[in-house]
Amino acid sequence: MSLCVLIAFFYLICAPPTLADSGFDHLDGAPPSKIAIIGAGIGGTATAHFLRQHFGPEVAIDVFEKGVVGGRLATVTVNNQDYESGGSIIHSLNLHMQDFMKQLGLKYRKSIAGKTAVFNGKEFILEETDWYLLDLFRLWWRYGISFIRLQMWVEEIMEKFMRIYKYQAHGYAFTSVDELLHSLGGSGFLNMTRRSLSDYLLELGVSQRFIDEVVAPVMWVNYGQNVSIPAFVGAVSLAGAQANLWAVEGGNKLVASGLLKLAKANLIQAQVNTVSLLSNGDAHQYKLSYSSTTFNGSDDVYDIVVIATPLQKNVKADISFEGFEPQLPDIPGSYHQTVASIIHGYLNCSYFGFSDPKLFPFTSVLTTGAADLFFNSVASICPVNITASFRRKQPHEARVYKVFSPEPLERNELKTLFKSYYSVQVTEWQAYPQYGSSQEMPPMILHDNLYYLNGIEWAASAMEMSSVAAKNIALLAYHRWTRQLEMIDQKDLMHKIKMEL
Ligand SMILES: Cc1cc2nc3c(=O)[nH]c(=O)nc-3n(C[C@H](O)[C@H](O)[C@H](O)COP(=O)(O)OP(=O)(O)OC[C@H]3O[C@@H](n4cnc5c(N)ncnc54)[C@H](O)[C@@H]3O)c2cc1C
Repeated sequence: MSLCVLIAFFYLICAPPTLADSGFDHLDGAPPSKIAIIGAGIGGTATAHFLRQHFGPEVAIDVFEKGVVGGRLATVTVNNQDYESGGSIIHSLNLHMQDFMKQLGLKYRKSIAGKTAVFNGKEFILEETDWYLLDLFRLWWRYGISFIRLQMWVEEIMEKFMRIYKYQAHGYAFTSVDELLHSLGGSGFLNMTRRSLSDYLLELGVSQRFIDEVVAPVMWVNYGQNVSIPAFVGAVSLAGAQANLWAVEGGNKLVASGLLKLAKANLIQAQVNTVSLLSNGDAHQYKLSYSSTTFNGSDDVYDIVVIATPLQKNVKADISFEGFEPQLPDIPGSYHQTVASIIHGYLNCSYFGFSDPKLFPFTSVLTTGAADLFFNSVASICPVNITASFRRKQPHEARVYKVFSPEPLERNELKTLFKSYYSVQVTEWQAYPQYGSSQEMPPMILHDNLYYLNGIEWAASAMEMSSVAAKNIALLAYHRWTRQLEMIDQKDLMHKIKMEL
């Protein structure tokens, strides 16, 4: 054994462990040993699943959750049955969500038909009937060809959006939401995140009346905001008003808990308080300090960290960042409060002009956002488990309703909407971005190997958007770790992919 080797050996066994010994060796091609994800909503759990696919079985993946797995996918119980109180509907073209269902062996919930009407605070201005052709004729009569223009626009956007699945299947990743959107729809998509929906639609030739009476109610029910929200999220919202929607039998949150198991991730029920940077030259690790009601503070060191919860102040993730030089910038903007009240009772149909509740034909009432309205929508809802013998109750019977409103309903407001009720369960969500409060897309890369998932919600907030961001961040983290930079932010991907085939 040469002297040099002996010295090196002596140094190895005697020297105190340095950062380089404890995981900074990825510059030499070693895989990461520990990854942390903060947040076990659909975004965090999907990230765990995709990271496991890319980094393989050896890496330890810890997922921190301070509340309940599923996050904004949640249920409340009425009379021993569960009802969705957060994210509830999924589009048929949401391919990541579809794929999760398949991999987890979950079942689609049977959908129960119902009719929708739009209320302007005084009367119904639009009513769905049992006859599809009659509904089409009425739309044409009242709004001309606006609805065809709108339909074509939404379809065109969806077609372009679907490119993401091809790009991701080929392993391509993007360093920012803007890069991702640009690769799908060029500057047109970026523009749509910066211009209001109403301006955009007016320019497309959609009439103001159609915007006020049809488009606005869809925005109020899906995002609790008016048509001044950006056109991109507006289009996502309109896609969510089409047919072909589905949900998960047993509750959408089963996808999140299922993905955690599939990823063989280690769930740590704790609040992450601090992410601190540990540096050794150009190499970095992150120390997470966390606590819970069942144990005192603890900490662990990770090679890669993904933050999968909104960081805006009013969402109260309460994570502080230490040791970063320069300091990490604050994430701007705020989240919009939507209150979901699940009410078991008798709807006051006479408030909507129907003195006989037996004649009230609607299951969902949307609103135009009139100034004196205290709610955005009210709908009779079905439980997350639907048996073969299930039938929707009639409006004169006690049913379970979901009311969306900007503020918790006051007693007199409840009395206005309901003749009487047995129970009211209220969830005050910081539900989705307050669109317009900041149109800057938050960064996806906060630091070397520190990623932020929820910036994508500023393009549009939906389960599938979080899943798309999850796949992107897993790919991005993997390619950056393994130095495959040619897989990141590539231009003209449609063409490249065709050449690859
Ligand atoms: C009322 C409502 C209706 C909606 N309807 C639909 C719909 O019909 N269809 C649709 O696609 N989308 C819908 N959405 C949007 C959809 O639910 C969200 O976009 C999606 O669930 C976001 O998932 P996420 O994992 O990114 O975030 P979240 O679900 O918010 O997950 C973040 C998680 O991080 C945890 N966390 C936060 N801080 C910390 C910390 N410091 N330490 C540890 N854990 C932390 C939180 O407890 C939470 O569980 C709706 C949302 C709401 C509120």
